[in-house]
Amino acid sequence: MDKSSIEKVIAGGYCIGCGVCTAIKDSPFLVQYDEEEKYQARIVDRKEISSAVLQKAEKVCPFAYGIPNEDELGATLYSNEARMQHNEYLGYFFSTYAGYVEKPFYRSKGSSGGMGSWLACTMLEAKLIDYVIHVRHMEGSDKLFSYTISSRKEEIEQGAKSKYYPVELSSVLEYVRDNPGKYLLIGVPCFIKAVRLLSEQEKIFKERIVFTMGLVCGHLKTGRFAKAIGWQMGIHPDNLESIDFRVKLDGSTANAYGVSAKGKADDGLKSSSMKNILINNWGYGIFRYNACDYCDDVLSETADVTIGDAWLPEFVNDNLGTNVIIIRNPHIDALINEHIQELHIQPLSADKVFQSQEGGFRHRREGLAYRLFLKDKEQEWRPKKRVVASNAISSKRKKIYEMRIPLLGKVNEAYELALTNNDFKKFEQTIKPYLSEYNTVYRKSFLERLLRKLKKVFN
Ligand SMILES: Cc1cc2nc3c(=O)[nH]c(=O)nc-3n(C[C@H](O)[C@H](O)[C@H](O)COP(=O)(O)OP(=O)(O)OC[C@H]3O[C@@H](n4cnc5c(N)ncnc54)[C@H](O)[C@@H]3O)c2cc1C
Ligand code: SF4
Ligand code: SF4
Repeated sequence: MDKSSIEKVIAGGYCIGCGVCTAIKDSPFLVQYDEEEKYQARIVDRKEISSAVLQKAEKVCPFAYGIPNEDELGATLYSNEARMQHNEYLGYFFSTYAGYVEKPFYRSKGSSGGMGSWLACTMLEAKLIDYVIHVRHMEGSDKLFSYTISSRKEEIEQGAKSKYYPVELSSVLEYVRDNPGKYLLIGVPCFIKAVRLLSEQEKIFKERIVFTMGLVCGHLKTGRFAKAIGWQMGIHPDNLESIDFRVKLDGSTANAYGVSAKGKADDGLKSSSMKNILINNWGYGIFRYNACDYCDDVLSETADVTIGDAWLPEFVNDNLGTNVIIIRNPHIDALINEHIQELHIQPLSADKVFQSQEGGFRHRREGLAYRLFLKDKEQEWRPKKRVVASNAISSKRKKIYEMRIPLLGKVNEAYELALTNNDFKKFEQTIKPYLSEYNTVYRKSFLERLLRKLKKVFN
C-alpha cells in the first residue's frame, strides 16, 4: 500500500507531535517521546489499519495534504462578521490591541502582559466556559509540563507563563470526549489548527471546545532546551525538576528576561539572565522541532483570540511586559470591553502587530519559501504551504537559512556527546564555532538590511 500523506508527514520529520490524530475514533496513532525528547506520532500496527481510518486521520493533521489552509479555515470561522478585516499576516481580525492587565498579579505572574491567564479566568467567571485546556506543571509527572484541564481560577493562574517545552493533546482530548462542558483551548497555532480540523471530523469536539486562544509562535522546543539551560546553570539533565523560562528582571527591558531552574537534589534555585545562556538566541532555532521550519502561521490565524509579546520599541523598555492581542471573536471583544477597567490597553494597528513579529515572519515567509525551494530541488516530499517556493533572495539571506538547517542536527549531536562524557563543556565547545560562524553571516546581513531601511528613510 502507498504511504498516505500523514505517514509522509511522520516519515519526513514534519510531525509536530500535537497528538490530535490520536483523538479520531478507532485511531491507530500514538504520540511518544523520541530520542531527541520531542513528541512524535507513530502508527501502532500498520497492517491492521483500514484506508478509511487513515483518510480520516490525515484530515486532522496540520501538515497533511488536502486540508484547508489557515485562510480557508479562517474564512469559514470568521468571514461572516461585518467588521472583520483580513490581511496576509494576521489572517482575519476584528480588533487589535497592545497592553497589559492592571488587575493585580496577572502581569507579574505572566510571561508578558498577563492577558492569557486573565482572559481565561474572566471567561470562566463570566460562565462562557467551564474548563480551560492549557499547560502547567503537574506534580508526580515525569515531564516538567503537560497539557491539563483546569476548572478553578487558582489552577488557571498556576499555569501562567510560557512553556518552551514539548506538549501534546492526546489525553486532554480524551477527557473532552468523555466529559461534557464548555472548554477553552490555549495553544500554539498548529495545535489550534489541528483541533479546528478535528472539530470538523468529530462534532463532539466542535460542540465542547467553544473558544480557542492562540499564542504567537516562533517555534516549539524539544525537552533538551530546558535541560541544556539547567545544565549550564549546574543542574544535571537527569535532575532538572522545574524551570521558569520567563523571569522578569528589574532594571532590564522586557526582551532581556531571565531564567530560573531547580534541581531534584539539594541544588536550590539557580537563576541567570538569558543573555548569559549559550543557547539564548531564538534566531538560532536550537532544539526546535523540524516541523516548525515548514509552518507559515505565526499569529494563530484560526484562534478566536491571539496573544503574544509586543516586541516593539515603544513597549519593550517596560520590563514587566506588554501583550499584542488580536481578536477574531466579537464575544471576546465584548468581554474585554466590559472589563476594560481591569486592563491598560490601547488599539494597535495591524502593521504594528506585524512589526512586533518581524523576525518570525522573515523566517516563515522568505525563509520558508527558500526551504521549500530546496526541498523541491531535491524532489523530496514536503507539506503544501500558502508560501510559494522561491530562491529570489540575497545570497547572504540564503546562507543564513542554509546554516539554520544543519545547526539543528549539529546541536543534537553535541548534546549527545556531552551526555556521553557527562560534561556540559563538550556541548559548549562543539557548538560555539558554528554559532560564531552563524553570527558573522547574520551581522553582515543585518547591516545590509539596516542600510536599506536608512536609504528608504532619507530618500
Ligand atoms: C512555544 C512558544 C513560542 C512562542 N513564541 C512567541 C513568539 O515568537 N513571539 C511572541 O510574541 N510570543 C510568543 N509566544 C507567546 C508568549 O511567550 C506568551 O505566552 C504570550 O505573550 C502570553 O503571555 P501572557 O503573559 O499574556 O500569558 P500568561 O498569563 O503567562 O498565560 C499563558 C497561557 O499559555 C499557556 N501556555 C504556556 N505555554 C504553553 C504551550 N507550550 N502550549 C500551550 N499553552 C501554553 C499557559 O498554560 C497559560 O495558560 C510563544 C509561546 C510559546 C509557548
Ligand atoms: S496530527 Fe499531529 S501528531 Fe498526528 S501526525 Fe499530524 S502533526 Fe503529528
Ligand atoms: S512554529 Fe508552527 S509548527 Fe512550530 S509549534 Fe509554532 S505553530 Fe506549530
